[in-house]
Amino acid sequence: MSFLKQINPFESAMKQFDKAASLIKLTESQIAMIKEPRRITEVNLPVRMSDGSIRIFKGFRVQHSIVRGPAKGGIRFHPSVTVDEVKALAFWMTYKCAVVGVPFGGGKGGVMCDPNELTPTELENLSRRYFAEMSDLFGPDSDVPAPDVNTNPQIMCWMFDTYSMHKKQFLPGVITGKPLELGGSEVRSEATALGMVFCVEEATDHLNIDLKKATIAIQGFGNAGSYAAKLLKEHGSKIVAISDISGAYYNSDGIDIDKALETCRKNKTWILTGLEKNTPCEKLEDPGTLLELVVDILIPAALENQITAENAPNVRAKVIAECANGPVTPEADEILEKKNVFIIPDILCNAGGVTVSYLEWVQNRMGYYWSKERINEDLEHIMKKSFDEVLEKSKTYKVDMRIAAFLLAIERVTKAAELRGLYA
Ligand code: NAD
Repeated sequence: MSFLKQINPFESAMKQFDKAASLIKLTESQIAMIKEPRRITEVNLPVRMSDGSIRIFKGFRVQHSIVRGPAKGGIRFHPSVTVDEVKALAFWMTYKCAVVGVPFGGGKGGVMCDPNELTPTELENLSRRYFAEMSDLFGPDSDVPAPDVNTNPQIMCWMFDTYSMHKKQFLPGVITGKPLELGGSEVRSEATALGMVFCVEEATDHLNIDLKKATIAIQGFGNAGSYAAKLLKEHGSKIVAISDISGAYYNSDGIDIDKALETCRKNKTWILTGLEKNTPCEKLEDPGTLLELVVDILIPAALENQITAENAPNVRAKVIAECANGPVTPEADEILEKKNVFIIPDILCNAGGVTVSYLEWVQNRMGYYWSKERINEDLEHIMKKSFDEVLEKSKTYKVDMRIAAFLLAIERVTKAAELRGLYA
């Protein structure tokens, strides 16, 4: 774990950018306009705890780019949040939105906290305080957050309410990932995983892998990972391993995903503890070995820096579908490319979330709400078109899918920056 923490995700993101930018020979001025974050805000958040004491939490919001539209990106609650992590995540949002062509820039927020240690009231106080402190940045036309690790639709509601009370208007377009009852969109909960599945369908078609017979390992069983397991099982694929912070669980005949979901529900917090007692599977001694199993498709859906130069040589999957942001380091990328592992990069693979967030924002602004069928159709169209455009770029430039996705996105962001010019 100490080794993992030494990898700076922002440095990894910059390496990815430089590699792609060198292929299209951007000028120094062009690079200066689109590479570094536009604005970094750091706040100390005083929160009254249930015992009456006051605790200070550190919070960040990074707006990487507002060139193609309002900054867009989730808010993460995690004890190990750092400004460099938030900078990297904001950077990836800029290029993710550009890859799928939704009219947003990139942003990300983070609060250093462990939500599992907070009472519901403390969590609400912290969420509201964060949003109030940052309310000059946020707005439907300036910066639109969403959920990320450890934040959820309830937290989005508290944040939306805080903003609306400050502005004395009903402004659901300030945040996405809300529940249906309060301006949320159909399909938003499963959007990230569903978008990933559309990419996996395209990738397996391209590689002649039968998805119905594919074996799959999934790291992380939260919003992205649990829906990924459920949707791929519905496709007929065999989910042989799943994991979360409680450990990794394996069954070569396939894990019963309904039982896994039931286990989380029974535990009352979304965690797989005790799964091996509820359904046939073994708990792996070292959860990291999940990443090294012989499977057709490996889906990292937890945190960044999971596949590194250390374990990449042992990866035996044919396809890696990056549901998480930044799960593969640049050094691991090079190793995996030599091993011919087909990687569907995060800025494409997990863009289903921001795509349906965009559709939610559009619906909020119209005050008119679309059916599940319509959202599904739009999401499928956008994801498959984007996958095909990235694949085409990778063939034209003879590069892997990650560099191809960055090429496509960098061209779009650069063009928009050029068209806008400089206000001085
Ligand atoms: P989540 O908080 O709902 O779930 C995270 C999961 O990862 C949990 O099951 C947790 O137990 C597990 N986890 C944490 N550390 C782990 C470890 N070391 N090993 C194994 N499992 C571990 O978060 P989420 O929303 O599902 O996000 C997961 C990833 O997907 C993040 O990288 C996030 O940025 C990315 N992502 C999420 C969305 C979205 O819409 N939720 C969209 C795009 C990208």
